[in-house]
Amino acid sequence: MTDSKQLYQEVILDHNRKPRNWGLPPDATHKSEGVNPLCGDHIHLALRLADDTVEAIGFEGDSCAICKASASMMTAAVKGRARADAEQLVQEFRDMAIGTLDPGEPHHLGRLTVFAGVRDLPTRVKCAILPWHTLHAALNAIASTSTESEADPMHAPMGNA
Ligand code: ZN
Repeated sequence: MTDSKQLYQEVILDHNRKPRNWGLPPDATHKSEGVNPLCGDHIHLALRLADDTVEAIGFEGDSCAICKASASMMTAAVKGRARADAEQLVQEFRDMAIGTLDPGEPHHLGRLTVFAGVRDLPTRVKCAILPWHTLHAALNAIASTSTESEADPMHAPMGNA
């Protein structure tokens, strides 16, 4: 087993055993629901935005290990970040997961790069991306998102508009 594969499995296991930011924060200002019908992932995400910064964020729901670990790491990564930085991370994570992230360009993914391998697992890409798309939906006041819907960012460029 390669080191990156081993690290990936350790991270997934760790975040499944102890998901970070499990449970929806009180006084949430933004929330959304995300579904991935292909796998059966279904998560609820809520966050509190103050001064355009993600002050609190949490999630709950029913999902596979990859989706849960991705949601756990996503919430930990964007907590305390400015909204624009959170949106940039969504874009970078998505590009990494679908394999279009330019390795020559600087990015802010840090430990999230453990998910880089999902680009070779087409059935798992949407599991890993779902929490990020749900975050994007929440920040843009979209009540729900589905990896199979036409409105899903997977089907159209996201932009920052
Ligand atoms: Zn899944």
